[in-house]
Amino acid sequence: IIDECPPDLNWPEDLFPDLPPLLHGHPDIHLRNGILEADQNPHPDAERAFFVADLSQVYKQHLRWRKCLPEIQPFYAVKCNPDPYILRLLAALGTGFDCASNGEISQVLSIGGIDPARIIFANPCKAVSFIRNAAKMDVHMMTFDNADELYKIARAHPGAKLVVRILTDDSKALCQLGIKFGAPLAAVPALLAKAKELNLDVIGVSFHVGSGNYDPSVYTDAISRARSAFDMGEDIGYHFSLLDVGGGFEDALFEQASSYLTDAIESYFPDRSGLRIIAEPGRFYVSTAFSIATNIIARRAPLGDEAAVAAPSEQPTVMYYINDGVYGAFNCILFDHQVVHPYVLSMGKSFHVAANEPVQTSSVWGPTCDSIDCVCRTVSLPVGLRVGDWLGFANMGAYTVCAASQFNGFQVSKVVYTAGVFRSGEVRGLLAQFASEVEKDNV
Ligand code: PLP
Repeated sequence: IIDECPPDLNWPEDLFPDLPPLLHGHPDIHLRNGILEADQNPHPDAERAFFVADLSQVYKQHLRWRKCLPEIQPFYAVKCNPDPYILRLLAALGTGFDCASNGEISQVLSIGGIDPARIIFANPCKAVSFIRNAAKMDVHMMTFDNADELYKIARAHPGAKLVVRILTDDSKALCQLGIKFGAPLAAVPALLAKAKELNLDVIGVSFHVGSGNYDPSVYTDAISRARSAFDMGEDIGYHFSLLDVGGGFEDALFEQASSYLTDAIESYFPDRSGLRIIAEPGRFYVSTAFSIATNIIARRAPLGDEAAVAAPSEQPTVMYYINDGVYGAFNCILFDHQVVHPYVLSMGKSFHVAANEPVQTSSVWGPTCDSIDCVCRTVSLPVGLRVGDWLGFANMGAYTVCAASQFNGFQVSKVVYTAGVFRSGEVRGLLAQFASEVEKDNV
């Protein structure tokens, strides 16, 4: 990965002056003579769940983006994972940032050396004080989808560069944003007329096909609607120069979505001279970069039938309690409609689960006293799994840490960083190695 870095980016020392070359953050892992070692006497926190962030994975996604969508500048959606190292990496790689609030704008600008023109304030319904603050910070690009927003902007930031957010089909998405945001095309002419009347500068059109969109073909219809909005702008006397294709890009479908998007742009915007195209990807950049290791802190027999969580044939025979749950990292199950799949990181003294290891139907629960705190209702796990063993979960980078709470007094799981020395498959090995060093009180 170091070889793949652009020549002006000295990886990772220049980028992360305070990040040790391999790992950062865990109290029990140290690098000695190039070998990872854990302390002999574990820190009291040693059983705590922790994320492993592979920053090289974020970089790889960026390379993928540049290959598939070279014409489209990504403005990373900070809300998805505002991890400071990710933001610094993306800043160094030259992306822009989609911010939803004052807090995110401040966080991005605090990196240093970021031109506020690299920020789009992509929240169509902002507090007037936030709009005023954006003006003060020289953040000019912002979205709107209603007339009241235009009045607020005319008052608090009359020099803003506005982008009208239109409604598109997000029915195939995990998170449908259209029930809250986006002006239907029929409402756009009146909105633009109001903007003109208020002397506001509308520079373009944005949309969001929904977060986690599993129908890559939606971009064809979305771009056709954007074309109509461009034409409506012309009718009112604007000449738009910005097309913002939003987020929603799923890792597994990225190449397909890129191809639909590129084709649609080609057919609806054949003459693109003077047109800037941006996007607001979040999930695509970070989802695969984070894994989480969780410790089994308790185990018990299932409750009686009256508390059944599954069909009789799928009744779990054992319940495992791990030390992160839906009030923490796994809030993605509730808020982001994710289904997560555990894998065994360590079992007893072993880190390899034999293929013929007997399994049983199990359920996995978070650590709080709330019964909604269920991570997996039914999952096959080895019969030999005990308290003290570790379970891992992949693809935990998007909409996880950022929305984690400390409900019941549980701390948000810390992040341990790797800077690309480990290939992604080796992250699992790293987790296993760490697990091997932690003393366990097996039941
Ligand atoms: N842009 C806006 C305005 C959003 O609301 C979101 C997610 O909610 C994103 C971009 C990022 O979407 P995704 O993570 O699906 O790429």
